[in-house]
Amino acid sequence: MPVRKLIFFSSLIILPVLYLAMYLVEVGTRHQPIAQTLKFEALLVLFVMMALEQVYGYRYAVSQRFVLARDITATAVNKYLTGAALAFLVLPLLLYLPQHFLGRKVFIASPGALGPFWLQVILILLIVSFFRYWMHRWQHSNEFLWKLHSYHHRITDLRALNTEVSNPLDFALRNILIFIVLGVVGFDPLAIILTVPATNISGQISHWGANIRAGRLLNTIFVTPEVHRWHHSAIIPDGHKYSVNYGVEFAFWDILFGTYHLPQENGVPLQPERLGHPSGIGDEPNYLKLLLAPFGLYPRAWDKPAPVPAE
Ligand SMILES: [Zn+2]
Ligand SMILES: [Zn+2]
Repeated sequence: MPVRKLIFFSSLIILPVLYLAMYLVEVGTRHQPIAQTLKFEALLVLFVMMALEQVYGYRYAVSQRFVLARDITATAVNKYLTGAALAFLVLPLLLYLPQHFLGRKVFIASPGALGPFWLQVILILLIVSFFRYWMHRWQHSNEFLWKLHSYHHRITDLRALNTEVSNPLDFALRNILIFIVLGVVGFDPLAIILTVPATNISGQISHWGANIRAGRLLNTIFVTPEVHRWHHSAIIPDGHKYSVNYGVEFAFWDILFGTYHLPQENGVPLQPERLGHPSGIGDEPNYLKLLLAPFGLYPRAWDKPAPVPAE
C-alpha cells in the first residue's frame, strides 16, 4: 500500500488508539510519585502528539515557530506551577469548611454514601465536564474573564504544544479548580484516579494539530480537534454570539445547550479556514504580556519599539 494511502487510512483510527494508549499510560503511572511530580507521562504524550502532527499534516496549518518560546513557557508554567499555586491558595479554605462545620476533612463522611462505584465514576465525569463547559462559556461572556481567556484565542492553529497556552488564572479556573473541589467532596479515591485522566486526555487531544478524522460518534461525544477548531474559528459561526463548542472534554453538553457546531459536506466535517482572535488581533509571542497585561501590570515601556521600516 502506498505511504499516502496508509497515512490516510490510519488517520481514521488513530484517534481512539491514542485515547486508549494515553489513558493506559496515565492510569498506569499514577502510583509512581516521581513520574507524577515530573509528569513524565504528560511529556511523553506531548512529544508523541507533536511527532504525529508532522506525519498527519493539516491542510490549513499555520507555522507556530514565532510563538515557540511562548508556547513552551506557558505549557511549563501551567503544567508544573499553576495547579500547585491554586491548591495552595484554595485548599486551606476548602478544607476549613467541612472541618469547621462537619468536624472532618471531607464533605461526605464515607465514599460509599455517594452511591455505588460505577455511579460515582459517571457522576464525576458529568460534574467535571458540566462545570468546565459553563466556566468556559462564562470566560467568553464576562468582560474580565474574556480579557484573560482571549489570549488562548489568539493562537492561529491548533497544536499539541498550545493546549495549555493560557493565562494561569484563566487556565486554573477552567481546568484545575473543579478537581481540587472534587478531592474534598469525599468521592471514592479510585473513582477519581480512573476518571481524571479521561477528562484530561480528551482536553489534550482537542488541540491536536493533526489531520485526523474522528467520525460521527466520537465527534458527538468528545471534543475532538475537528470540533475544537470551530471554537477557535476567526469568524464566529452565524447565529452564535461569542463562540461555539465550549466543551473541554465532552461535546454532548454543547449539543444539549445549543452551542454545538460542526457543519458537514457529503458526510465529511468541514473545518474553518482561519483560526484566531474573533476581533482579528494577532498572536502574542511575549509571555510576560500574556501573564501581566490582563491585570494592567504590563508597562508600555516594556514594549519593544516598532522596527524601523527598511529604506
Ligand atoms: Zn474559549
Ligand atoms: Zn483551545
